[in-house]
Amino acid sequence: MPLPIALIDTHSHIYAEEFDADRDEAIRRAREAGVERLLLPAIDSESHGRLFDTVRRYPDHCTPMMGLHPTSINDNPRWREELALVERYLCSPPEGVGRFCAVGEIGLDYYWDDRFKAEQLEAFTKQCRLAATYDLPVAIHTRAAWKDMCRTVETETKAAREKGLRLRGVFHAFAEDADTYRQLKECGDFLFGIGGVVTFKKSRLADTVREMELDDLVLETDCPYLTPAPHRGERNESAWVRYVCEKVAQIKGLTPEEVAEATTANAERMFGRPQNRPAPSHGRKFFDAPEANRQAAAPPCGGLPATAFRADHRELPPENATEVPENESSDHASPSSDNGLSRPERA
Ligand SMILES: [Zn+2]
Repeated sequence: MPLPIALIDTHSHIYAEEFDADRDEAIRRAREAGVERLLLPAIDSESHGRLFDTVRRYPDHCTPMMGLHPTSINDNPRWREELALVERYLCSPPEGVGRFCAVGEIGLDYYWDDRFKAEQLEAFTKQCRLAATYDLPVAIHTRAAWKDMCRTVETETKAAREKGLRLRGVFHAFAEDADTYRQLKECGDFLFGIGGVVTFKKSRLADTVREMELDDLVLETDCPYLTPAPHRGERNESAWVRYVCEKVAQIKGLTPEEVAEATTANAERMFGRPQNRPAPSHGRKFFDAPEANRQAAAPPCGGLPATAFRADHRELPPENATEVPENESSDHASPSSDNGLSRPERA
């Protein structure tokens, strides 16, 4: 029974190969569950083709981001080419893809390998500046790197302001404590992506969410990873963002409808919204995210047109990789309970 609400999954990897066998059905299930739109973060050139194909097939429901994931920088001699490709796509989106709604996912991840901090910081900083230039929000991934993240976001927010630009965005898969939330909130216009971890029994995230302002939250799945209860151990999918919505409602003593309404409004404020809102959900094609500003702010395209290249240097995450950081109190991403689907290197 669909909820009488409109949800947005603000972080969905529905284009991942885990959905090759049933992507149409997964998107249909999402719509039936009231999830009207899926925002799709990019990872690197290895998966751009799948991302673009998915957006072309579902232009009314799937909106792409463009960015280079921090773990795609590790051990990658071609990471600067990847970064240049991101810039070309932002300037000139591929045929049939429309506009990108954010620069993402980008960030810092020292968990898998801490030998590439300098490279990750350079790429993250560069992409924050691109986002400010194009007046797009950022979708930020952070793992085992909060100190550098806070410092960099503070610096880049200030630097953007001094140029008359703005840096804003979402801390995706936020699962930290209330103090970190308050510290990050002071950085500027940032929202917090709440996902399946909030449903985990041992997670501290429920306590944090209790302290958070509803206006600071957006909902996400990070599917196929971080599956919420009661489906832990299965592949996650965008329809299940409703479990996140219901859990947040329970924590905050609100109805799911109230949480859906607020978080959808938050997501639309940050990422833009369909041009014909608030009309009902038919015929929505594009986001009217600050187009005028962006066009004015965007530099002319330099260099070559965006042509995809295949980065064949990438390796898959180790199959038996465990996911739980030393000081992680939640049961977030325990491989035994999540069937290895919980949190691979790049999610
Ligand atoms: Zn992700």
